[in-house]
Amino acid sequence: MNTDCWLLVTADGWGGAFRIARALPGRLTAVVIGPRLLAEQVAAAGPDEVRWTDPGPVPAEAWGAALAGAAADAQPGVVLSTTDPAARVLLGAVAGRMHARLVPAAVALAVEDDRLLVRRAAVGGETIETLRCTGPVAVTYGGDDVAAASGAAAPVTPVELAAAPLAVIASEPLAVASGLEDADRVVSFGRGVRARDDVSLVQGLAAALGAELACSMPIADDLGWLDKSRYVGRSGNQISPALYLAVGIGGAPQHMEGVRGARVVAAVNNDPEARIFRTADYGIVGDLYDVVPELTKAVRNLPSKELEQ
Ligand SMILES: Cc1cc2nc3c(=O)[nH]c(=O)nc-3n(C[C@H](O)[C@H](O)[C@H](O)COP(=O)(O)OP(=O)(O)OC[C@H]3O[C@@H](n4cnc5c(N)ncnc54)[C@H](O)[C@@H]3O)c2cc1C
Repeated sequence: MNTDCWLLVTADGWGGAFRIARALPGRLTAVVIGPRLLAEQVAAAGPDEVRWTDPGPVPAEAWGAALAGAAADAQPGVVLSTTDPAARVLLGAVAGRMHARLVPAAVALAVEDDRLLVRRAAVGGETIETLRCTGPVAVTYGGDDVAAASGAAAPVTPVELAAAPLAVIASEPLAVASGLEDADRVVSFGRGVRARDDVSLVQGLAAALGAELACSMPIADDLGWLDKSRYVGRSGNQISPALYLAVGIGGAPQHMEGVRGARVVAAVNNDPEARIFRTADYGIVGDLYDVVPELTKAVRNLPSKELEQ
């Protein structure tokens, strides 16, 4: 079994994927399409090699065909992508070219009897199933993000790409009419909310606080649980409320760019190491399914004068 692995990285949040890739006995090549700093951070975690290119203003996905060609030449046994949308698009291109089996939502990789075993989340995250795979496999990471431990730093090899396959010729901010831009309070939720039906929990808290409801990008873009005009971040709304309360949001830099102007950022997250706690002014470490109903009750019991302040 060929356990050489390519890890595709286009943004922060690669620590969890790196950890499961490193567990394989083969050579680990990190392919970074992003800024040099990102490549250096990945290199410091200790892959065997980093191949890096900076796409500049061109979307990383535009290099799908070139990357797929390089992967077909190198023939890694496993290609793993992080969870961010660009990396997943690149993975699809590579998998198609290599005729690799696509396995989503992996949480662990191992080799047993010369076969690759992929443990992955199934049934909406309620079950972990183990798949035995033959031939090249393309895998998306499905676990939580974790900080990568540092290892023996790997060399960063710049990869020259002949010519940008696309050029950005105009960039205009979208006119957003969600009401978020003027909101004094915003309650926002992310993938910590497990099901569409559970959105009502967060909605209840927003209503109690007299806040607008917002979300992280995957909630609107991938899951469609809120309108796209309601997500916050680099590619969505940049807002400046007096209070931004983030529920079950990891705190990726692309998300936090949208709330730089917030006066107070508070977060509820069950992972004490969650990135959002690095920037939040206040944090509650706890399961949102316990914390949000309690908070809602507490807010509802506040005298209205206090709530107005
Ligand atoms: C070019 C580019 C642009 C992007 N632009 C944006 C953007 O504008 N906006 C944006 O949001 N993202 C953007 N992203 C995506 C971004 O990188 C992250 O992938 C995304 O923000 C993650 O969303 P999340 O925090 O909801 O999910 P996750 O990162 O999966 O975080 C979920 C969090 O919920 C917590 N959690 C899980 N269960 C519970 C529970 N029961 N109780 C409490 N907490 C729980 C977890 O600990 C975790 O921290 C962009 C990415 C790229 C590459």
